[in-house]
Amino acid sequence: MVGVSLRFDISNTTAAGGRRAELNLPHGAVQTPVFMPVGTAATVKAVEQGVIEALGAQIILANTYHLYLRPGHELIARAGGVHRFMSWTRPMLTDSGGFQVFSLAKLRKITEDGVEFRSHLDGSKHFFSPEHSMAVQIALGADIMMAFDECVETPASWERTRDSMALTHRWAERSRAYWVEHRHETPWAREGTGIREQGIEEQSLLPPPSPLFPSLFGIVQGGMYRDLRKESAERLVEMDFPGYAIGGLAVGEPREVTREMIALTLEHLPKDKPRYVMGVGYPDEIEEYARMGVDMMDCVLPTRAGRHGLLFVREDPGDRASAVVRLNIKKQDNSEDQGPIDAGCGCMVCQRYSRAYLRHLFSSGEPLGATLNSVHNLAFYLETMTRVRASLASE
Ligand SMILES: [Zn+2]
Repeated sequence: MVGVSLRFDISNTTAAGGRRAELNLPHGAVQTPVFMPVGTAATVKAVEQGVIEALGAQIILANTYHLYLRPGHELIARAGGVHRFMSWTRPMLTDSGGFQVFSLAKLRKITEDGVEFRSHLDGSKHFFSPEHSMAVQIALGADIMMAFDECVETPASWERTRDSMALTHRWAERSRAYWVEHRHETPWAREGTGIREQGIEEQSLLPPPSPLFPSLFGIVQGGMYRDLRKESAERLVEMDFPGYAIGGLAVGEPREVTREMIALTLEHLPKDKPRYVMGVGYPDEIEEYARMGVDMMDCVLPTRAGRHGLLFVREDPGDRASAVVRLNIKKQDNSEDQGPIDAGCGCMVCQRYSRAYLRHLFSSGEPLGATLNSVHNLAFYLETMTRVRASLASE
């Protein structure tokens, strides 16, 4: 194989297994452990890219299923890829579309070859195979792409989970084969295609000079079964991916089970490659998992909670490691509170606006309320990870 897809340099590992590292990707370096804000439809809902940068987000997610349906991956490829399309110059990760196909789309039909489904937007018929998921992700042009997997419903029997996991492994092999052959074809790597023909300046399209290719991560499945999680991890490690994700968690199981499955899976993944837990969680969870040795996490919670008026604050604002408390901005007792959301938070919202004003915006249905709440929550998550990284570097 020619070239590498990422560099992962671990500078310190703690007794508990937590790692402080730097992940180098085509669009730049990411300090880990890292929290990745979710930009479902090429937008972190209600928050503008310049603000996301100012908050210190190093890498964001976009959802393949949503962008494939609207505006379409081919349109985004013609625009130079999702980075250029949304004007985001830092690294980006796309999921495979699998999770949304299994959770949002209608009338799914699963075969060995892939999944036929109907769009949740207009009922139109579509087909995703591992190869098609990879082709869409390459057209979007993320730094990290994910293998196409089946997401089993919960709860599911051991037999059902085993069969689904086996299918996921066969799809992982097919995803990997397609990636090896086509990973040079991202819009920002291709010569003489689309965007350059439109005469847009080359400099603005391309990542900084980098010998790196986009990466593909395999996804460990196996539901809530210890033996299947172990088998899934071992099977994917044999396939030799640049990094590994742990999928199928935070789907309604108790938090102790999530923790147990993560701890068990981490034991069977290589120590020298990045490890990503998908779709978790509350701020205290992401801190806990980072200290166990998870390098990457993403969650819609900071923005989704923000849009619902739920804000994360520290119990003791002066102690940033104190317990996480949820503040409901809607409550009447905030109506004349002239203090900030969180007196110890350095974010642009807490520096400028009062709880009374934020309550008013929320109660009046003003869009600025959703934006400011989301900005604070994102800042809270990112600050948590900055503190965890400092701690992991010195332990
Ligand atoms: Zn704040």
